[in-house]
Amino acid sequence: MRLQVSLLCLFCLTMRSQAEDGASLHGSINPAGRCHYTFTVASPQESSCPGGDIKSEMDGVLSRLTLLEALVSQLLAGADGGTGSKGGEDVQKATAHVTGERNKLQQDNAYLTQQVRELQRRLEEQNREAESLKQKSCEQTQLPGGSQRDTRPVSDPVHDLANGSYQEMKAEVTEVPASQLILDGGHNATDCGDLLSVGDPVLHRKADSITGKYGVWLQDPEPRGPHYTKKTVWRIDAVGKDIRQLFAYEDLDQFSRGFPMKVVVLPEPLESTGATVYRSSLYYQRKRSRTLIRYDLDSESVASRSELPGAGFHGQYPYSWGGYTDIDLAVDEQGLWAIYSTSEANGAIVISRLDPDSLAVGKSWETTIRKNTVANAFMACGRLYTLASYTAANTVVNHVFDTATGVRRPVAVPFRNRYKYNSMLDYNYAHRKLYAWDNFHMVTYDVRLGPGSR
Ligand code: CA
Repeated sequence: MRLQVSLLCLFCLTMRSQAEDGASLHGSINPAGRCHYTFTVASPQESSCPGGDIKSEMDGVLSRLTLLEALVSQLLAGADGGTGSKGGEDVQKATAHVTGERNKLQQDNAYLTQQVRELQRRLEEQNREAESLKQKSCEQTQLPGGSQRDTRPVSDPVHDLANGSYQEMKAEVTEVPASQLILDGGHNATDCGDLLSVGDPVLHRKADSITGKYGVWLQDPEPRGPHYTKKTVWRIDAVGKDIRQLFAYEDLDQFSRGFPMKVVVLPEPLESTGATVYRSSLYYQRKRSRTLIRYDLDSESVASRSELPGAGFHGQYPYSWGGYTDIDLAVDEQGLWAIYSTSEANGAIVISRLDPDSLAVGKSWETTIRKNTVANAFMACGRLYTLASYTAANTVVNHVFDTATGVRRPVAVPFRNRYKYNSMLDYNYAHRKLYAWDNFHMVTYDVRLGPGSR
């Protein structure tokens, strides 16, 4: 190394003697009688000679090499797997974490693949169904008295003008409500199978104050008493600390226009948007408790109360939108249900049959659907359906759990949250509709169910 530095300095001096003016050679005889020559070069910047810089740079390189060697030694010591060393433990922990993450990703991947397959299957089903409906529509365009099928498209204006009978039939068809058309399209009111489709939301009313940001509204599918009917509309604004007011409207028209025919003040406050009305009783969860209350709407008194064993409440196991939706009560063709979770179920949805009179818990099912991953849920024909998102304008009903088989399946029935904040979703089997409270807006959806037994 010294030799290299010396050579570089010599090279530097040689270059300078050639390039710069003012160099001189001085000769003299020293006291020992020997000739002594001095070669002098005038330099404007003595420090520009690079010899010193190279040395300092080399020193820097050497110190960095030393540091690197130390680091490599530490790494090698860690890689040797010294079980007692902290480095070894860290490596093991990191490996376990990465392996865990990889396994989770593999599980998610398998689940998503299954969902994609299910989506493809349902798409094919719907295509087949559309083809079948198209075929039926063509069959209905037979000319009166004729045996031949008219295969011209129904939108053909020439055909419309030439055939008065067809125009008449078309006029009749357009007057039939959409829901009836659905039932006539190969399905009837006794069908109680899988959910096939959900229609577009129909707006009935918009709340005019902040207390109507979210709430619950519905109609009784099976009223018993003399005072109220299937047309009566019930509404509770669920924003506030002490929710006790229950509004009753004579029918949907009155509900849309404004003023209620009656305001019932409940003796005990309720929590969440999971209340329901069935057989002339309001069923609800008492505030800050797992107590269920049956309030008789005819006698206007508490008819029964019961604890829902182990049920989370007051924000312990809500739906993804929150709002103390721990206990969601639901009614379908098979009766009264509670949708909730417990610490034993670790946040997964539990479904229980409830006795409508005593509120006693009958059979229960524990699903594998985590309650806080879905926006809301409802029961229809003994099946639980969950909604994927409460904010996405275009979302899906994403799971079905059939209490008859105890099996959960992924589904993908399109659903629209037109106002992007859906806080309540409930099914009414008498009207074959879903009721929702979507960001101040009270809406219904027509539903179509496949064939199956009640
Ligand atoms: Ca619900």
